[in-house]
Amino acid sequence: MRRIPRLPAIDGELGWYETSPLTGRWTGNRLKGTQTFDVLIIGAGFTGLSIAGRLAELWPERRIALVDALGVGQGTSGRNAGFIIDLPHNLDANADPEVDKHIHRLNRFAISRLDQIRQHHRIDCAWHKAGKYLAAHEPANLRHLDSFTRTLDTLGAPYEVFEDSQLQQRLGTGYYRKAVYTPDNILINPAALAQGLALALPDNVTLFDNSPVTGVAYGKPHRARFLGGEINATTLVLSANSFGEEFGLFRQRLVPVFTYASLTGPMGETQVRRGFPDVAPWGLTSAHPAGTTVRLTPDRRIFVRNSFSFDATLRARPQDLQRAWRQHRASFTARFPDLHELNFEYTWGGMLRMTLNHQSVFQRPADNLYALCGMNGVGLAKGTYLGYYLAEWMAGRDSDDLDFIRRHNQPRWVPPEPLRSLGARLRLCYEAGKAAGEV
Ligand SMILES: Cc1cc2nc3c(=O)[nH]c(=O)nc-3n(C[C@H](O)[C@H](O)[C@H](O)COP(=O)(O)OP(=O)(O)OC[C@H]3O[C@@H](n4cnc5c(N)ncnc54)[C@H](O)[C@@H]3O)c2cc1C
Repeated sequence: MRRIPRLPAIDGELGWYETSPLTGRWTGNRLKGTQTFDVLIIGAGFTGLSIAGRLAELWPERRIALVDALGVGQGTSGRNAGFIIDLPHNLDANADPEVDKHIHRLNRFAISRLDQIRQHHRIDCAWHKAGKYLAAHEPANLRHLDSFTRTLDTLGAPYEVFEDSQLQQRLGTGYYRKAVYTPDNILINPAALAQGLALALPDNVTLFDNSPVTGVAYGKPHRARFLGGEINATTLVLSANSFGEEFGLFRQRLVPVFTYASLTGPMGETQVRRGFPDVAPWGLTSAHPAGTTVRLTPDRRIFVRNSFSFDATLRARPQDLQRAWRQHRASFTARFPDLHELNFEYTWGGMLRMTLNHQSVFQRPADNLYALCGMNGVGLAKGTYLGYYLAEWMAGRDSDDLDFIRRHNQPRWVPPEPLRSLGARLRLCYEAGKAAGEV
C-alpha cells in the first residue's frame, strides 16, 4: 500500500467556516471499520461535491463514498474569497476567442447548476449576484483594464466602466482610479455553500469527513486506508486538488502556492453610516494578478486577500500567517483609513494549486481510476463544471462540452525540485514587485 505522506491541516482561523450558519450541523461521519462501495471519491471540496452529486444522479443504484481529511468547508473550498466567477480576468489565458466563449459558457453553466441546488435545498450561504469589479490603483495597470474590456467586447459580455468619484460612491473607498464592472459574478460564504451542497447530496452518497486517507492501493478493488478503517471500491476518483500529487497518479504538473485572507468583525452602525452610505455589498479583484482582492460582505465585514508564499510542505507556518496579517492590515488601512478601529477577527491561509498553462488535470490514468485536480484560482466555477463532466465521462455520456474539456485540460510539465521551488519563488517575488500599489 502506498503511504500518503502529507495531509491537509487547518492553516489559521477559518473565517468563513466559523461564521457559516451551517457550521455545527451534522454532515458526515468518520470512517471506521472496513466498508465496500462502488465508487470512492477522495476530496469533498467543490470539485468532489460536484462529481458526487452528478454521479449520484446518473447512477442512482450505485453506492458512492465521498471522503475528506477535514470537515466540509474547512478545506480550500471553504477558505477562498467566495467569487463564483463567470468572467475571470484572463479566462484561461487563451488567445483564441472561441475557447474563451466556451469557457464562459461552462462557467455560466456551473453558476446556474449551483444556483438550482441552492434554491431547491434552501442553502443559507449569503448568495448574491453582486457582480465583480476589476480595479486598478496604479496608472501603469490601467492597460490591464483595457485588455479586459477588449476580451469582453469580443465575447459580447456586458460591462460598465467606473472612475474616480463615481467609483468611490459605489465602493466606499477612494483608493481606486478605475474599474470594469461585470454584473454576473456571484458572491457567497464559500464554507456555507460547500456545507449546504454536502447536506443536499442524494441518499446513495455517504459522506465521511474528518477522515484522512493515509494509504492507497490501486487494483481490483482499489483500497484506501484510514485511521481504524478501510474502504474497498471498484472505482476511485481523486479530487484532492492541492494534495493530488501525494497519491502518485501524476507528477510534475502542479505548483502549490499559498495565499492568505483576513475577515474583519462586522462594522457598527456609525461606521456604516459614515463610510458606506447606500453602498451595496461588493467584490473586487485587482487589475494585477498579484494584487489584493477585497469584499464588503452583506453582514458588513471587510474581506482582504493577498500575499503569496511557496511551501513544498503544504502547510502555512505561523510566521507566514503573521506576515500575511501585517500585509493585510497595511492594504486595509490604505483603502479604509477611517476604519482603523475595525480589527480582523480571522486570518487564514489556503492553497491555490496552479498549473503553468491554467489547465487542470482531467485524467483517467487506468480503467476505473480518475483524477481531477489543479483548479488554479477559479475552482468554484471550474471545479463545479469539471466535476459534473467527469461524472458524465465515467457514466459514458459523450458531449461537445466533455470533448472540449478533455482537449483543453492538458497541464504543462513543471520541472522537478529544487527547480520548481526556485522558479516559483522568483516568479512570486517578481509579480509582487510589479503589483506595487495594487497590493
Ligand atoms: C485565499 C484563497 C482565495 C481564493 N479565491 C477564490 C475565489 O474567489 N473564487 C474561486 O473560484 N477560487 C478561489 N480560490 C481557489 C479555490 O478555492 C480552489 O480552486 C478550490 O477550492 C478548488 O476546489 P477543489 O474541490 O478542487 O479542491 P479543495 O477545495 O482543495 O478540496 C480538496 C479536498 O481534498 C481533501 N484532501 C486532500 N488530501 C486528502 C486526503 N489524504 N484524505 C482525504 N481528503 C483529502 C482536502 O481536505 C480538501 O477538502 C481561492 C483560493 C484561496 C486559497
